[in-house]
Amino acid sequence: MILIDSHCHIDGEQFDADRDEVVQRAKDAGVAVMLDVGTGDPHSDDFRRAVAVAEKYDNVYASVGVHPHDAKLYDDKADDHLVDLVKSSKKVIAWGEIGLDFYYDHSPRDVQIVVLRRQIKKARELELPIIIHSRDANDETVEILTEECSDKQFPGGIMHCFGGNPEMAQSLMQLGFLISFAGNVTFKKADDLRDAARIVPLDRLLVETDCPFLTPVPLRGKRNEPSFVVHTAQFLADLYGVELETLADATTKNFLDFFRIGLNHREHRDH
Ligand SMILES: [Zn+2]
Ligand SMILES: [Zn+2]
Repeated sequence: MILIDSHCHIDGEQFDADRDEVVQRAKDAGVAVMLDVGTGDPHSDDFRRAVAVAEKYDNVYASVGVHPHDAKLYDDKADDHLVDLVKSSKKVIAWGEIGLDFYYDHSPRDVQIVVLRRQIKKARELELPIIIHSRDANDETVEILTEECSDKQFPGGIMHCFGGNPEMAQSLMQLGFLISFAGNVTFKKADDLRDAARIVPLDRLLVETDCPFLTPVPLRGKRNEPSFVVHTAQFLADLYGVELETLADATTKNFLDFFRIGLNHREHRDH
């Protein structure tokens, strides 16, 4: 069985002490590919760290883009820095996470909106897919994505850690987005999320950890890590009434086809 963690933050300091072991445990658990999403201050070395992790491990890819929390830090210099990082490594395959977070409001909402639109345009210039974060801003997110991403040239995107309702999932799938579920879909109170998950067909679905956050049941309370994505995958397989293997195959194929990347067969043949 092969799984892919479509969204993790293993470049973070929470993994400094045991990153090699974390990556090895993921491989041992069948997690063949991880997408490490850079976050932080675009004027610091935070994003360079994510790219360095992707360069170090053959099965880790990276993404760069300014999180809505840090939208107030986005300017021309940040833009240049991130574009340089994209050009510095073939392992950078997406722009994100970008979006709107009206739950924490760490940046003013009007700034978040301007910076989201600006980064979508930047990603499109670079022909990179986008990774979207949306919290307590789902109507605004759908509205902006519909305006910016409805044309045929749009290279596609991933709605990460999906937190909306079935209508939102439907609108985003119509725009060509894949829908990625994190460990919170396994939480007891997440009936809305499960309603949304039920309408996402297997060929539009991804799974992720968003680690170190959102540790899935039954491991809640522990630091999350990519090997734990199997619990979210198993949960969704049960929800759909399919074998874990079927869900794993579908989500892996969706990711690899979307990014047009292959697996290193020499390394994974014996799984
Ligand atoms: Zn996020
Ligand atoms: Zn994230």
